[in-house]
Amino acid sequence: MAHQKGGDLMRFQPVIGLEVHVQLKTDTKIFCGCSTRFGAEPNSQTCPVCLGLPGALPVLNRKVVEFAIKAGLATNCSIAGRSIFARKNYFYPDLPKGYQISQFEEPICQRGWLDIHLEGHEPKRIGITRIHMEEDAGKLVHSDTPGLEDGSGVDLNRACTPLLEVVSEPDLRSADEAVAYLKKLYQIVTWLGLCDGNMEEGSFRCDANVSVMPVDSDTFGTRAEIKNVNSFKFVKQAIEHEIQRQIDLIEDGGTVVQETRLFDPTTGKTRSMRGKEEAHDYRYFPDPDLVPLVIDTAWVERARSELPELPEARQKRFMAELGLPGYDAEVLTASRGIADYFETGVTAHGNPKAVANWVMGEVTRGLNDNGCAIDDCPIAPAQLAELLGLIDAGTISGKIAKTVFDEMWKSGKAPRAIVEEQGLVQVSDTAAIEAIIAEIIAANPGQVEEYRGGKEKVFGFFVGQVMKASRGKANPAVVNDLLLATLKQHPGGTT
Ligand SMILES: [Zn+2]
Repeated sequence: MAHQKGGDLMRFQPVIGLEVHVQLKTDTKIFCGCSTRFGAEPNSQTCPVCLGLPGALPVLNRKVVEFAIKAGLATNCSIAGRSIFARKNYFYPDLPKGYQISQFEEPICQRGWLDIHLEGHEPKRIGITRIHMEEDAGKLVHSDTPGLEDGSGVDLNRACTPLLEVVSEPDLRSADEAVAYLKKLYQIVTWLGLCDGNMEEGSFRCDANVSVMPVDSDTFGTRAEIKNVNSFKFVKQAIEHEIQRQIDLIEDGGTVVQETRLFDPTTGKTRSMRGKEEAHDYRYFPDPDLVPLVIDTAWVERARSELPELPEARQKRFMAELGLPGYDAEVLTASRGIADYFETGVTAHGNPKAVANWVMGEVTRGLNDNGCAIDDCPIAPAQLAELLGLIDAGTISGKIAKTVFDEMWKSGKAPRAIVEEQGLVQVSDTAAIEAIIAEIIAANPGQVEEYRGGKEKVFGFFVGQVMKASRGKANPAVVNDLLLATLKQHPGGTT
């Protein structure tokens, strides 16, 4: 992103609010029984309700309400005892009814917040205005799609899949804050199992409202809305570009117009898509096909009792009860799967810091190298604990343990079996190590001379030679002790 003008960020304050669409991981759609599975044959998962055929009536999916309540509780919202569905009217080919069923007045969750922590800054509280339930639209497919040689088609498999729209207050002041908030929200909805988190398939996407104002002003500038950004990296790029574009425009004497813009990942820029609609353009009105949704306290409390320990609470417990450093606790609670894996490992092994190091090190490396998720990790936490037990017992060195780990990953065998099969047991037997040392010393009289002449650096050479001769199996601590003792002896001495 090259900015010839380089408008002065010091003189302007960006103001950002996010509207996040979270696709819910229910088996069926929000108002009918059709499957929500991604990637099926176009229009194979449809019925009169989601096709918008006349006379078909929507029936609210109870699971969607339960998910919305849980999302609200986890983001500190109040849950409305009564909420209503509204019709949002607009015309587009992927919207068969000519309106989208959403919530406008009286959404299910209101007035919540999330705390974000940017490195080097105090925690900051970001307000959540509301969370409401709505149905998704279908999808237009164009002639670059296989089987569609010319023209465009509409696939209504996605029509009527359940979404939560989470609307933040305009409390965010930089692209970094926006990304931190987004990651936090992502962590929560995936942690609760409400959303599969697949951003490439659009399961978690966001619209960013961006404006800038002079730093000494308390009146927000006119905002532009950037639509449907579906990666953390693109959100950062899109917001940064939009802030700079608006500052340049204002400094050039122009004015920002309220509009909807699209982010193009190939250029890193946003471009105008259409003038921004106001709420009244959608002629919202209560949907007469759906009765008001009444949620009693018992339902809310049942949902609350089903909530798992949330990421922040778990992070604090890892620090307080398991004695982990803050950094480790944060990394190990990045996802619920990682946190569960770690904790099961600790139960089996007993040394939290050792398990933490291996999960953040070898396990994470293995997952990244193989592009696999923690749930598909071929090494169970109990097996990892067994491997660490072998290190504790002095059976293998930490270095050999990494070799064993790789073999466990490939073959699925138990660590002890691998160690025995491949003869990897660490040699701590002093007689065996002394024999190797004697050979090395006899073969390298020059280096022995140097060491005894005061060149202590040569010591590392001897350690290396002994480890090499033992094929890495000699116990390094024993090697050190014995080497030191032997080299300090008078040349004529015996071992
Ligand atoms: Zn349907």
